[in-house]
Amino acid sequence: ETILGIETSCDETAAAIVVRDADGTGRIVSNVVRSQLDEHAAFGGVVPELAARAHVAWLDHIIAQATAEAGIALKDVDAVAATAGPGLIGGVLVGLTTAKALAAALGKPLVAVNHLEAHALTARLTNGVAFPYLMLLVSGGHSQFVLVCGVGDYERWGTTIDDALGEAFDKVAKLLSLGHPGGPEVEKAALKGDSRRFRFPRPLLHENRLDFSFSGLKTAVRLAAESIAPITDQDAWDIAAGFQRAVTDIIGTRTRQALERFSMEFPGQQARIVVAGGVAANKAIGAALREVTQAAGAELVIPPPALCTDNGAMVAWAGAERLALGDTDRLDFVARPRWPLDSDDMGLHHGA
Ligand code: ATP
Ligand code: MG
Ligand code: FE
Repeated sequence: ETILGIETSCDETAAAIVVRDADGTGRIVSNVVRSQLDEHAAFGGVVPELAARAHVAWLDHIIAQATAEAGIALKDVDAVAATAGPGLIGGVLVGLTTAKALAAALGKPLVAVNHLEAHALTARLTNGVAFPYLMLLVSGGHSQFVLVCGVGDYERWGTTIDDALGEAFDKVAKLLSLGHPGGPEVEKAALKGDSRRFRFPRPLLHENRLDFSFSGLKTAVRLAAESIAPITDQDAWDIAAGFQRAVTDIIGTRTRQALERFSMEFPGQQARIVVAGGVAANKAIGAALREVTQAAGAELVIPPPALCTDNGAMVAWAGAERLALGDTDRLDFVARPRWPLDSDDMGLHHGA
């Protein structure tokens, strides 16, 4: 089947064509992403109304480019999938409404995709990972461990009680005047810094639960930065390095604990963990994850960065997996600003 996927839940306008073969393997035929960095640059964060307007202005062009690069016409798609939540509601409505109109005009099924499910299933597109597996989702809006048992079958094992990890990276970058989006800038700065000069807290880590907390760490970074005046480049690099080291400690420790739980719940089963979200691009975190998973004899899958951040291919693939199970949605599906993966209605509902 050939699926068109549409993603507009945050600050990327994206569309892709993905083909899923009968044996369950998938391939990306086209994957077009337009990031709204310029629109939001002056504000140091995503402005929802500006995001929605940019999606309106660009989505048609992005879809046309996705079909052109795939060498197909819209009438050749077997289904239209779009993120229906969670996310910024204005943007979600732009993508979902466009998908509904296309599905109605083409007479093809609609799949209303949960954005987090799209992140969760990406590793099956890129690496054919089999159920069950653990997902560590670390993005601008989420930091969670989720047990992925099947399409629509999720169990959340832990989450952040305050900031998301990507958000913490972005805020630290802003504090240190490193630019936006902050993750890659903090990572670059940390390479030049001494991670031992500042010893930052690892909030919640002493507690025996799989949750995260990053706001205390961010405050400690702010206090450290404020204690130095004027702050030099080297100071900022050292603080960035100390912050990133605290983060890799936290992620490493929690991942080890999550894998222990996986092995207890699935004895004799190969433990697997897949990473999703923009923070998965961070090399220091990747190295920490490799170390921990190797020690645990677990399998680690980190899809390429372009498929870890928001994109249309992951939405198309999630749509393809649902479609293959006969699970499509009605044209009156209501967009959801909040839609946790472990909510009751995530299960297969077969168009009901
Ligand atoms: P969500 O998917 O939760 O709605 P989002 O769309 O903002 O949120 P993504 O696009 O998956 O999230 O990821 C963006 C986040 O990833 C940003 O916070 C960014 O700073 C962070 N990020 C990107 N590259 C890196 C990196 N190399 N190191 C750390 N963080 C990074
Ligand atoms: Mg984004
Ligand atoms: Fe996302």
